[in-house]
Amino acid sequence: QHWPDSEGLSYSNLKKVLLDTPSADKAREWSRYYTAGPHLAGKNLSQAEWTRDRWEEWGIKSDIAAYNVYINYPKDHRLALLKHGKVDFEATLEEDVLEEDPTTGMDDRMPVFHGYSASGNATAQYVYVNYGTYADFEELLKAGIHLKGKIAIVKYGRIFRGLKVKRAEELGMLGVVIYSDPGDDGEITEENGYKPYPDGPARHPRSVQRGSVEYLSIGPGDPTTIGYPSKPGVPRQPTKGKIPTIPSLPLSYAEAIPLLRALNGHGPAASSLSSWWHGGGLGYKNVSYNIGPSPAEITLNLMNEQEYVTTDQWDTIGIINGSISDEVVIIGNHRDAWIAGGAADPNSGSAALNEVVRAFGAALDKGWKPQRTIVFASWDGEEYGLVGSTEWVEEYLPWLTKAAVAYINVDVGANGPNFEVSAAPLLNKAIYEVSTQVQSPNQTVADQTVADLWDGYISTMGSGSDFTAFQDFAGIPSINVEFGQGKNSPVYHYHSNYDSFTWMERYGDPGFKYHEAIAKIIALLAAKLVEEPIVSFNATDYAVGLENYLHRMRETTNAEETLGKDVFWPLEKAIQAFKISAAALDHHASKLHAELSSPHLTTSRRKSLFAKIHAINKHYKTLERHFLYQPGLDSRPWFKHVVFAPGLWTGYAGATFPGIVEAIEFGKDWEVKKWVGIVAGVVGGATLLLP
Ligand code: GLU
Ligand code: CA
Ligand code: ZN
Ligand code: ZN
Repeated sequence: QHWPDSEGLSYSNLKKVLLDTPSADKAREWSRYYTAGPHLAGKNLSQAEWTRDRWEEWGIKSDIAAYNVYINYPKDHRLALLKHGKVDFEATLEEDVLEEDPTTGMDDRMPVFHGYSASGNATAQYVYVNYGTYADFEELLKAGIHLKGKIAIVKYGRIFRGLKVKRAEELGMLGVVIYSDPGDDGEITEENGYKPYPDGPARHPRSVQRGSVEYLSIGPGDPTTIGYPSKPGVPRQPTKGKIPTIPSLPLSYAEAIPLLRALNGHGPAASSLSSWWHGGGLGYKNVSYNIGPSPAEITLNLMNEQEYVTTDQWDTIGIINGSISDEVVIIGNHRDAWIAGGAADPNSGSAALNEVVRAFGAALDKGWKPQRTIVFASWDGEEYGLVGSTEWVEEYLPWLTKAAVAYINVDVGANGPNFEVSAAPLLNKAIYEVSTQVQSPNQTVADQTVADLWDGYISTMGSGSDFTAFQDFAGIPSINVEFGQGKNSPVYHYHSNYDSFTWMERYGDPGFKYHEAIAKIIALLAAKLVEEPIVSFNATDYAVGLENYLHRMRETTNAEETLGKDVFWPLEKAIQAFKISAAALDHHASKLHAELSSPHLTTSRRKSLFAKIHAINKHYKTLERHFLYQPGLDSRPWFKHVVFAPGLWTGYAGATFPGIVEAIEFGKDWEVKKWVGIVAGVVGGATLLLP
């Protein structure tokens, strides 16, 4: 049933349009457009405009929001292995041009570099530091390895790359080389007999992962305007502590081999250090994974020259106005990529988003009158540090605080068959339901849905994509969806020239069927959040989430031993009370829902129900906001959510109750108690504000 009136397209017909419109062929066409040339942040105005023009063609009012941001572009670099001061090996720092893959050979392709990296020129002995996690560095210090004054060679993986540089810098190291070790590619390796791309599914030995090294655990976005929008002329803060001061470069495994081999026999074997140090996947190439340091006569020269500019970036923003003016759902994807291609990251998402926009346009064409407002966003600058989305959220914070219902993010939309979700618990039920309504591209049994092939696991929100400002800064329940890689999927060349249209067509999503499927998932989820009379959140799921996070904190920390059995008691009580109120809210909502579906509804009864529903929706809409604590986390006040934050030393993976957990980890007893009090107070406050 449509409410409060029955004009236009019914909800069930809307859903039909949203399932019928997105097509693999169209997604393929958009993918081809986006991946045909460079579209680095701040250098993709034509793509922002093209996106705006398509959306307008499909009937969605669209515009471009520009921000003036501080970012870097590469100028020059060098990485050389020196023996007795003579060059023994000089890295090309280039990925191979492949005849079969045209965008790998574009004349204006970007050199390999790191976003927000520091210029510098260091010549020093070097040390292999495993993944460069906080714990890895602790192991090295324990083993008495001298790090100060050395260069680190570190594997990609486990944590956000910027944190590897951050810890190295804190320990007095002079530079960092980050390389892609095939030991992290699972079964699909050259060593196991698989041919590398383009002839097979294994990693191309010369593929390089670019990426940002912003210290975004402090706060994402433009590092000179943390907390407020980067509009022209605004005051700028110093970047100290927000971006590295030591240079770094990314490297392929082919070019890492000579550096690693030169460490053979020097210093302890990696595997002797600690249970989690296994060396890596280059043993068959005569790399023994010694830690070093390299002897005095074997050094690296690492030179990195970056140009820093303050330049414009462009978010394309489309809007469909609903009849309820103060309830809005936002759907976003970033458009910028490090490379010409970016067929998976981000343009599988960009192609899907276009199909979502086109589908809603088709519904408008058929007379659909939306209830809530929908905003579509094609973000710029995600790769440097979620810049386009963060600046936009910082600019529209007052409006979002008042009106935002939810944010749906898609970054990589499709590079494999595995449905993956991370979400705020309020959205769990909605995505479970929607996943049963979209057919899986992989039909091992007829009529299989996405839900049938999904393990149902929903992870908590960490960081690494554009939902961060929505969830952690503005308190808007967010969800990220994708079809990601399975265990034996072809190796994905993340942030490399080989994340290209050709790779996508051959290996990632050959028929573009997963592009189509993710578009349908997003469209149906948005429709549900926009059209259902009562906002389709479940507050009880939030309470259950809080219980689980508390349980996990008890299991994984020793706080109860060191601080006493009752250390978490105030929080436990607060969660119990919240759970009761949350259940009452959900109960109230389902009663209203039943009344609304009654066949004998008079017009006046309908009107009064409408007022009640608007009131209950206000509770659902603002519930996540109550979990913000305005002073923010101690070491990073931009992060205001007391339940979810990216892990301080993981970056991507989420932490729950970050204030408490970090105080425990750093052994600050008084602050553990302080944070238990803060979180219990916040949960208690949320409870009081429920009806
Ligand atoms: N998604 C980008 C990356 O992983 C940016 C992440 C971020 O800045 O949080 O490199
Ligand atoms: Ca800012
Ligand atoms: Zn991305
Ligand atoms: Zn990326």
